[in-house]
Amino acid sequence: MSDYLHIEIISLPSETTSEYNFKTVIIGEPGVGKSSIISRGVNNIFTKDYKATLFFDHSWKNYKVNNSKIRIQLWDTCGQEVYHSVIKNFYKSALCIFLVFSINNIESFNSLSFWINEIEQSSSEDIIIFLVGNKKDIEKERVVTEQQINDFIHENKIKFYFETSAATGENVDKLFEETVKQLYIKHVIPLIKNVNNVSLYSTDDNFVLSDSNKIDNDMVVIQEDNDEKCQNCVC
Ligand code: GDP
Repeated sequence: MSDYLHIEIISLPSETTSEYNFKTVIIGEPGVGKSSIISRGVNNIFTKDYKATLFFDHSWKNYKVNNSKIRIQLWDTCGQEVYHSVIKNFYKSALCIFLVFSINNIESFNSLSFWINEIEQSSSEDIIIFLVGNKKDIEKERVVTEQQINDFIHENKIKFYFETSAATGENVDKLFEETVKQLYIKHVIPLIKNVNNVSLYSTDDNFVLSDSNKIDNDMVVIQEDNDEKCQNCVC
């Protein structure tokens, strides 16, 4: 039996308690804007000063998604080679990763293959990866082409790509909301409803789907467990 579920996302104050905590790790080369994306997404603040993250920074953002209170814990990593072995431990328990490069920095894009390799080796199989091309506001300085990005997305089966600007705020809220939506679909819906299949359709251009089925941005289709499945289970 199929059912349609509308997903409503409301941002909540930081002091709100949550029922679900989802760890998200943000990785990428130093200077691509990882801390700035978090600062923009969490506090709506942007500063031009560059202060390298020395080790890890931890912040969070709370949401109400339908009736569930969800916290995304954001772990900002320094992105330096010397800490790679430590960062690996962070992937292990992460359910989501923001893999960030800067559209005006080809080295930051070229390093993505390294990071993808690290993630594959160290994280759980169903980790959700968001590829993020930051500094969209300086389009005239773009050196990473759309073709290169598309090739990377296809080669690595990336489902979600956002171009953001922490400087102007463009697409940062969308990135966060899509993150909480995907975490809700993957980890909360199966707990609150007895489902065996959840699929999401979207019309959002920033949102890449493997099967290219694009229908409605806020609608998930859920397939409830049927009797046949129950007969085969051990309950
Ligand atoms: P991190 O090392 O990856 O955490 O990078 P930061 O967040 O510290 O940002 C590095 C530098 O890039 C800082 O000077 C930021 O002000 C700048 N920056 C970050 N995001 C953007 C953006 O979207 N647009 C522009 N023009 N500059 C940005």
